[in-house]
Amino acid sequence: MSDYLVRATAANAQIRAFAVTSRELTEFARKAHDTSPVITAALGRLMSGALMMGAMTKNDTDVITLQIRGVGPAKGITATANGHGEVNGYALFPQVILPANDKGKLDVGGAMGDGYLRVIKDMGLKDPYVGTVQLQTGEIGDDLTYYFAHSEQTPSSVGVGVLMNKDNTVRQAGGFIIQLMPFIDDETVTRLEEKLSTISSVTSILDAGNSPEEMLEILLGDFGLEITDKMDVCFKCHCDKERVEKALISVGRKELSDMIADGEPIEMKCQICNKAYNFSVDELKKLIKYCK
Ligand code: ZN
Repeated sequence: MSDYLVRATAANAQIRAFAVTSRELTEFARKAHDTSPVITAALGRLMSGALMMGAMTKNDTDVITLQIRGVGPAKGITATANGHGEVNGYALFPQVILPANDKGKLDVGGAMGDGYLRVIKDMGLKDPYVGTVQLQTGEIGDDLTYYFAHSEQTPSSVGVGVLMNKDNTVRQAGGFIIQLMPFIDDETVTRLEEKLSTISSVTSILDAGNSPEEMLEILLGDFGLEITDKMDVCFKCHCDKERVEKALISVGRKELSDMIADGEPIEMKCQICNKAYNFSVDELKKLIKYCK
């Protein structure tokens, strides 16, 4: 199943929902960054959340970035998505290894530790919207749920998950977001809460062979679910040589002149997608003129 996202409504538009399967793009990120299982899980969860939040944006050019920073060994991960189903992400420390948590699951919360989740919405205005909340568990789904309640005053249920194969490749990845609209009636809220309390994990739903549509059917089938839109999603970085040149200039005059003195071409990798860019000594000599 290729990666895609669906949008839906239920209960006469008193509920809106999103679901995504993101196995291929999570596996792409794992390979690009050579991430350990716990970091693969963290990145896959965050990118799934970012894709669904990207699908909530109103303007064509809006970009949404989710940033987690914590005191745990992973220190931080970042994912950026737009409304066209494009997402990318990277980890500050891709190779963190941790024992499983007390539920026998990958310890994403332990990898993050105490810290914060920051949501940055760039809507082309002078200043982006920034909302920051304390991490609740660092498991990402809980933290996004808390963010929606606190920063956007939208009661929501967020489930994101990544399941690994024994060989540490990605077996399943995806998630859902269910949101209550302000005019929802109490009876529907109660029924929905009861329903959600019976739901197993996202990864077990996906691993049973369910598509995003079927995942929403399981969650909201009793509420008059209506799938309204479907969109392909993928890992996409918008880097080019010029952007990598700027990164190279920013490493500083001393480092650049050392590279030139070595007399060898160098390879510089994009931090976000790990694509390699080569620079000849002559190119380095041109770039050093721009160094401060
Ligand atoms: Zn890139």
